[in-house]
Amino acid sequence: MNQHVEAIPALNDNYIWALVQGSNCVLVDPGEPGPALEFLEAGQLNLTGLLLTHHHPDHIGGVAGIRDRHPAPAWGPDDERMPADMETVGEGDSIALPGLDTELKVMETPGHTRSHIVFHGQGMLFSGDTLFSAGCGRLFEGTPEQMQASMDKLAGLPDETRFYCGHEYTESNCRFALQVEPDNPALRQRMNQVRELRSQDRMTLPETLGRDRQVNPFFRTREPSVIEAARGREEMPDERPATVFGVIRRWKDRF
Ligand SMILES: [Zn+2]
Repeated sequence: MNQHVEAIPALNDNYIWALVQGSNCVLVDPGEPGPALEFLEAGQLNLTGLLLTHHHPDHIGGVAGIRDRHPAPAWGPDDERMPADMETVGEGDSIALPGLDTELKVMETPGHTRSHIVFHGQGMLFSGDTLFSAGCGRLFEGTPEQMQASMDKLAGLPDETRFYCGHEYTESNCRFALQVEPDNPALRQRMNQVRELRSQDRMTLPETLGRDRQVNPFFRTREPSVIEAARGREEMPDERPATVFGVIRRWKDRF
């Protein structure tokens, strides 16, 4: 079926992801129209759909401008801040991508925003601003409990799942993760790889869930080393994953 995923860099450090099969294309989280329109034009591609993870402008800002030129259906979470004329999807829903031999499932992952969703299937995960490589999204509208539960859901997907997230934040995320776990060998290895890639202006994505689980402190809130680091940072009433998650997240916010 020869389907592939391409990255379209947008805004400062966003990626718009393009699923392409033959001349058909589905875009994920178009934050601005310009680069997406150029991509479609350059590849003589037919836009067949838009997938949207959450309402932030750097993820949906391109929707209207793109659809002016390429009318296509869009799918996104139930939230009045999402674009009009969009099909609402939620936990467990499946989307058969028009023109592509691909069906993706929806998972609700509140935390970054209250209605954030991700799309997964066929070994891929489009994680928006919930999961970044070696990090996670800020808690703008959710609690540590919610985000911990969202991360646990994602952690339940197979190790070999490749995830495509909304931003190129990997290098700074690894720098922070090394503060939490300076002696984590997998993390040191990932940091070296990421520095090398970035020095050549190459992207650090996609990453696999299996590898990220070894380095991402927000996946590792049950690890003794991460609990210990959290305890050194703040007084904790208990060592529940959500409590540890909250400490690590506040630490990262000030990093
Ligand atoms: Zn966001």
